[in-house]
Amino acid sequence: MDKGLLIVVSAPSGCGKGTLLEAAGKRHDFALSVSATTRAPRPGEQEGVSYYFKTREQFEELIAADGLLEHAEYVGNYYGTPREPVERHLNEGRDVILEIEVQGAMQVKKRCPEAVLVFILPPSVETLRHRLQKRGTESAEVIEQRVKAAETELEMARYYDYTVVNDDLDKAVDDFLGVIEAAREKVRGRK
Ligand code: 5GP
Repeated sequence: MDKGLLIVVSAPSGCGKGTLLEAAGKRHDFALSVSATTRAPRPGEQEGVSYYFKTREQFEELIAADGLLEHAEYVGNYYGTPREPVERHLNEGRDVILEIEVQGAMQVKKRCPEAVLVFILPPSVETLRHRLQKRGTESAEVIEQRVKAAETELEMARYYDYTVVNDDLDKAVDDFLGVIEAAREKVRGRK
């Protein structure tokens, strides 16, 4: 049996990444990795579904125990990928998606060269700001911090294997699934 593909997806927040991955998940079986974070839960977020919510101390223990495949600090909080579930799903032949920011993605690329890195682009930075404002879960100050972080992140798209522009959802899902098929063929071709 082939091992699953490790797919890293990064997008500046507000790119509609969640919607895109949910739609893609209806057409392709993925295991979505649940990250650990020190950020406070947003309304509606559930422990073990959206994230594993940790204190800084608990998070640092996870790092020390080598329990994370990668981790990074983003806008003042730690985020990291628990290693064991990812390895288990891949060994079972399931494709795994990590929705992580760029510093973490670069760590994964180093550690797992066979991983496929996909960057989701917003149609424009203005669209991004509007989407964050519409979501209404962050203060104006945090939105501006996130837009700034996004602008820096956009420059990182060049380090990814593929980019997908999330303008029209159906087209973006087609593009995303196409990228995964292309990556699978590439991995098979290497064997
Ligand atoms: P949010 O606070 O909006 O849920 O996430 C903020 C950023 O952290 C997003 O870019 C998200 O993809 C990223 N992120 C979520 N989980 C992880 C993780 O496990 N590792 C890393 N490096 N970034 C993550």
